[in-house]
Amino acid sequence: MRAAVYHGNNSVEIEDVPEPATTPGHVKIRVHLNGICGTDLHEYFDGPIFISPSEPHPLTGKAMPVVLGHEFSGTVVEVGAGVTDIAEGDRVVIEPIYRCGKCRPCRTGAYNLCTSIGFHGLMADGGMAEYTVVPVDQIHKLPDTVSLELGALVEPMAVAWHAAQHAGVNDQSSALIYGGGPIGIGLWYALRGMGLTEVDVVEPSPVRRAALERLGGRTIDPIAVDVPAFIADRSKGDGVDAAFDAAGVVPAIESALASLGERRPLISVAIYDRPLPTPLIQLVLRERRIQGTICYTAEDFKAVIDLMAAEHYDTTGWVETIPLSGLIKQGFDELRESKRMKLLVDPTA
Ligand SMILES: [Zn+2]
Ligand SMILES: [Zn+2]
Repeated sequence: MRAAVYHGNNSVEIEDVPEPATTPGHVKIRVHLNGICGTDLHEYFDGPIFISPSEPHPLTGKAMPVVLGHEFSGTVVEVGAGVTDIAEGDRVVIEPIYRCGKCRPCRTGAYNLCTSIGFHGLMADGGMAEYTVVPVDQIHKLPDTVSLELGALVEPMAVAWHAAQHAGVNDQSSALIYGGGPIGIGLWYALRGMGLTEVDVVEPSPVRRAALERLGGRTIDPIAVDVPAFIADRSKGDGVDAAFDAAGVVPAIESALASLGERRPLISVAIYDRPLPTPLIQLVLRERRIQGTICYTAEDFKAVIDLMAAEHYDTTGWVETIPLSGLIKQGFDELRESKRMKLLVDPTA
C-alpha cells in the first residue's frame, strides 16, 4: 500500500510499504481522509521533535521511520481477536493517544497527560496510508449523519473543545480567541456550542478573517484596532471573561492579558517552540491566570461528534482535500506559507 513515511528532517517519502496486519485487540481501518496538523509541519521542517530517531517508544515499540497521520476517519475492514463492540463496515474516527493506564494522570482519567504518552502517526504508523491498525480503545464510531470528511476533523476540533472546557465560561460569558487558524476556528465552534454569543476572533490575516466571517464569526484585525482599548470600551472597563491563545506569539499574549477581566483566565492552546517574554505583572495586578491545555480525552471526542451530528460544524471555505501524492508541495509547503487553512489528504489519490 502507499503511505507517507517520515525518515527525518525534510525527508518524507510517498512509498510502497507492506499492509499492516491486524493484531489481537486491534482494528484495521481503510483510511478515508487524514488531516495535516501543525505538528506534522513541525516534524517535517524542524524535527524530529516528537518522533524518536532510534529509541523505540515504551508503549508502541516504534521509532523512525514512521508513517505520519493522526487526524483521520475511515471504515473498519477487519477486527482482531477479542474485539467485540466494533465490526467490519463501521465508520470510525480514531483518538490517537496511546496511554499507559498506570501513571497518576491515567489513573485519574486525565490520560492526555500520561507520563509515557504516545501518538498514532508519530510513535506508531499512522493514517497517511491506505490502511492503518489501531487499538480498539482508541476508536469512536461515527453516527450515520456525520460524514467521513467531517470525521477527519474530530481530532483538531476536540483539541479546541478540551481547551474551551478549561475557561470556566457559560452562555453569558464573553471570549476573545487569538489566531484564526483551524484551532481558532475550532475554539469558535466550541464556544458557540457551549452557548456563548459574545466571541471575537483576533486575526491579522485578511484571508483567515474572511473565512471566519463567512461562517458567521466576528473578527478583529489587531493591526488596525487596539484590541484592549476596544474591549475596554465595549465592556465598560470589565474586559472579557476568557481569552484563548491559538497564535503563540508575543503580541497576542500581551493583547490577551491586557483585555481580560479580573480573575479571568488566558487559556493557552499553542505550541511554543521558544520562551516568550510575558508581562506577568498583568497577572498579579488583576489576579488573572494562564492555563495550559493539551489534547483531549474520549469525553471531548464524544462531545464534538455529538455537535457534528447536530450539524454544528461547517467546513465551507476553510477545509480542502489534496491527494497523498501532493503531500509535500500542495500540503506542507503551502501550509507553511499560510496559503491554505486546513488540508485533508486522500491516501488513495
Ligand atoms: Zn494534530
Ligand atoms: Zn499513563
